[in-house]
Amino acid sequence: HRHAQFSVTGAGSARRPVVAERQAHGTSTAGPAALGPGTTAPPAAQQPVWPDQAALRAVTGELATLPGLVLVEECVRLSERLAAVARGEAVLLQGGDCAETFDGVSEEHVRGTFGTLDEMGALISAGAALPVVRLGRMAGQYAKPRSSPVEVRGGETLPAYRGDLANGLAFTPESRTPDPRRLRRGYQVSATTLNLLRALAARRGAEFWTSHEALLLDYERALTRTTASGVYDLSAHLVWIGERTRQPDGAHLDFVAGIRNPVAVKLGPGATADDALAIVDRLDPDRTPGRLTFISRMGADAVRDTLPDLVSKVQASGARVVWVCDPMHGNTFVAPSGHKTRDLDRIMDEVRGFFEVHAALGTHPGGIHAELTGEHVTECLGGTRPVAPEDLPTRYETACDPRLNRCQSLDLARELADLYAR
Ligand code: PEP
Ligand code: MN
Repeated sequence: HRHAQFSVTGAGSARRPVVAERQAHGTSTAGPAALGPGTTAPPAAQQPVWPDQAALRAVTGELATLPGLVLVEECVRLSERLAAVARGEAVLLQGGDCAETFDGVSEEHVRGTFGTLDEMGALISAGAALPVVRLGRMAGQYAKPRSSPVEVRGGETLPAYRGDLANGLAFTPESRTPDPRRLRRGYQVSATTLNLLRALAARRGAEFWTSHEALLLDYERALTRTTASGVYDLSAHLVWIGERTRQPDGAHLDFVAGIRNPVAVKLGPGATADDALAIVDRLDPDRTPGRLTFISRMGADAVRDTLPDLVSKVQASGARVVWVCDPMHGNTFVAPSGHKTRDLDRIMDEVRGFFEVHAALGTHPGGIHAELTGEHVTECLGGTRPVAPEDLPTRYETACDPRLNRCQSLDLARELADLYAR
């Protein structure tokens, strides 16, 4: 039984080029209204139900007239960098907040995450003797899939928080009602964040790339453009599809199959080799190194058992994907204090398991995907300046999942440097 908060319609693949072209000229937006009679759209999981469809059309129509946030040639260059990772000639470092928030964008916060990724990258690069591709989970990470469509607090039931792009974190009916004007604000806040990131990267002459989960298809479609080089989603350099929206016949895979950005897909412990092979055939039919990244998030207990079959069969298919380890999402638990947390020991254990699997198969451990911040939050446990369970309330500030703080991030980077140096 579908909950009312979910919508199951989206633009069909057959119409995508038309929709993208119209969007480029600002005359139309994607969505159910763009479908002709008799067209069947693949179902889209995890979408907010916008109460005001006219307001949604107005906002997506406006977004479709605005410049993309990134350039096509930048996306092409990231694809080249990821091809090097796929060949074993570079390492991918992807990280940032679980959920960025509109109010959380400040110079301090952006500098903190950028600087942490920069320091981690330097450590990993030294250990691996390879260049590190720095990819922020930044400048657009505003939409969250949820395991439950509702949240119950003190007997009151409200829609779950789906990220600032959809609704507000405050537990009130007004805040939790999806508001399409948030899509416009998300574009603006992404642009502000990107402006800082570009300035920080230029100071050092370094490359830096942006990514987020392509979850809210109304937003992603509105920023998709048909260009001389093909169809690109210009909301970020790379977008990924999460564990909850990677259904083979779903709208999210259909959407990323139609764009030429480098794309990634998360694979959890339930993913089979057949699932992975179907995704390869769908998203990387030409077997282009750098086109597809798999982000495995198996959990420390499962990674050694579940990952080998996937990696060996994908390798045998002729695809040269980038394999990245997300050691965060399979290792989450609730502490006695009620805080959602993760233990750095378990995180490190999953990373070691990921390296063991690739060492046994002779494949390249392509890199890491982590939820982290440059600030000294107390959201994850452990580390060389340890956070104990009783410390969790001190600075628990995440809008969604618990992040590594700066010290814990550097601990993780030192471990990675050691593993690559072996
Ligand atoms: C996330 O990256 O925050 C997330 C929800 O991950 P997953 O899709 O792997 O559960
Ligand atoms: Mn998360």
